[in-house]
Parts: sequence; C-alpha cells; structure tokens
Amino acid sequence: MRADLPQPARIVERLVENHRTVTLVLDTPLDCSPGQFAMLWLPGLDEKPFSISADEPLSFTVSRVGPFSEALHALGPGGTVWFRGPFGRGFGVETGCREPVLVGGGYGAAPLAFLARRLLARPNRTRPVRIHAVLGARTAADLLFTGRFAGLGCEVHPVTEDGTAGLRGVATDAARQVLAAGQVDRLFACGPGGMLDALAVLVRARQVPAELSREAYLRCGVGVCGACAHGDRLVCLDGPVFEVAP
Ligand SMILES: Cc1cc2nc3c(=O)[nH]c(=O)nc-3n(C[C@H](O)[C@H](O)[C@H](O)COP(=O)(O)OP(=O)(O)OC[C@H]3O[C@@H](n4cnc5c(N)ncnc54)[C@H](O)[C@@H]3O)c2cc1C
Repeated sequence: MRADLPQPARIVERLVENHRTVTLVLDTPLDCSPGQFAMLWLPGLDEKPFSISADEPLSFTVSRVGPFSEALHALGPGGTVWFRGPFGRGFGVETGCREPVLVGGGYGAAPLAFLARRLLARPNRTRPVRIHAVLGARTAADLLFTGRFAGLGCEVHPVTEDGTAGLRGVATDAARQVLAAGQVDRLFACGPGGMLDALAVLVRARQVPAELSREAYLRCGVGVCGACAHGDRLVCLDGPVFEVAP
C-alpha cells in the first residue's frame, strides 16, 4: 500500500459522538501511530488533513465546521472516502511514562484516545499505572470521548467554559490542577494553538516533558508545498507532534 497515493475506502459505520462530531469507520486497517494524520479527499470538493482516531479499523473523527467537514458528515455506511497517509510524526508511545496526562481541546481528543489505547497495550512493566484525560470544550454538549476514555480506565477530567460539565474554565486550568498533584511524568496534548502555547509554559515551569500536536494550514502533507511552516519546521514532516523539553 503506497502512502503517497490516494486510495478509496468504504465507510462501514458512522458513530455520532456529539451534536457536531461523527466518527467514520472505514473498511481497512492502517499501519500507523497515534498522532499521525491522513489526507482525506472527496473528489471534486477538496482534500484536508485529519488525525487518525483508530487504526484497526481505520477511523477519523470529524467536527462539522465548514464545507468539507459538512460533506464528510453527509456520508454514511456504504459511502466512499479517499485517503493518503499515514503522514507526520506521531506521539511517543515507548517513553516508559507511568502517569501521563492527555489534554484534548475540542476534536483534539481524537488522536489521544488512540494514544491511550496504545499506551495501555504496552507490556505490563512499562504500562502506565494511571492515565489522566483532560477534555476541554465550550459546553457539556461539545465534550468529546469522555465515555471512550472512561471505558479505557482513564481518569477523566472534563472542563467546560460555561461550567455545564466538570470544572468551569479551559483545558489548561484542569491540566494545571493535575500537574500540581505532582505525580504526572509526561503530558501529551492536541488542540488549539493558544491551548498548546499555555501548556508549554506550564510544563516548562513544572519540568515535565511534553509532546504537543500542532495544527497548521496544511496542503500537500509531504513537505513539498511549504504551506504548514511553523517557525523553521514543517508541521506535516517534522510534526504534527513536537516535543517540549523540560
Ligand atoms: C494535522 C491536522 C489534523 C486535523 N485533524 C482533525 C480531526 O481529527 N478532526 C477534525 O474535525 N478536523 C481536523 N483537522 C481540521 C481539518 O483539516 C479541517 O480544517 C476542518 O475540517 C475544517 O474544514 P472545513 O472545510 O469543513 O471548514 P473551513 O471552511 O476550513 O472552516 C470553517 C470555519 O471554521 C473554522 N474552523 C476550522 N476548523 C475548526 C475547528 N476544528 N473548530 C472550530 N472552528 C474551526 C475556520 O477558521 C473557519 O472560520 C485537522 C487539521 C490538521 C492540520
């Protein structure tokens, strides 16, 4: 299977995750790591990057915000979506962390649920003893994957801007509380740039190593067009996951 060429996949299931987010489950597995992405293509419309939210079978979790995500939402079982990938550098699964915190803002939770499953699949002696999942959203209705993380045995910390579920505030507020407890040895995050910048400050102050998945305006996915430059690096090749040294 060539990652650089688009190939068609059939949708076998469409899971409604919340009022504006669905997971499209495809009829194929993909050899990939959590944090990697694929380019989804609807011929005649557009091609855009999406985090891989599961590998077996390959799944994508899509929030409806504009024309392309709207078109993906309109697809159901039997529909076809084309994809290229996997691309990019994913999260480190083999770091040996024992009590990680996973921080997801909005659909940023999508690659983190896949990461939690991979961390828990490690051999017993290197498996985390406790995984915290901080899930941030505007309201309770916008929260994503609280049940999925709880089902994996993670300690779920919901946080909403209007206080309708969990802590009232933003994901960084809950992450600060979890970090203050002093046991966390690695932070993984995916979400809006402002959230990631604030988390980078937090982890440096606490000397906790972190991996942050950055979003960018991304066109080719393979380092040719340069549209996704972040400083002197390319999000599609060097990222989307970047390490923050403690
Ligand atoms: C590496 C990477 C991974 C990504 N993974 C996912 C994923 O797993 N799931 C997913 O749903 N999207 C993901 N995206 C975003 C996705 O590629 C599209 O940008 C998104 O679906 C919007 O496309 P659109 O044409 O529907 O709307 P657009 O017309 O591009 O956007 C409509 C409006 O919504 C705003 N907007 C765009 N995205 C969002 C958002 N997520 N939340 C709130 N407002 C937004 C835009 O600024 C614009 O004002 C990822 C992007 C990158 C770079």
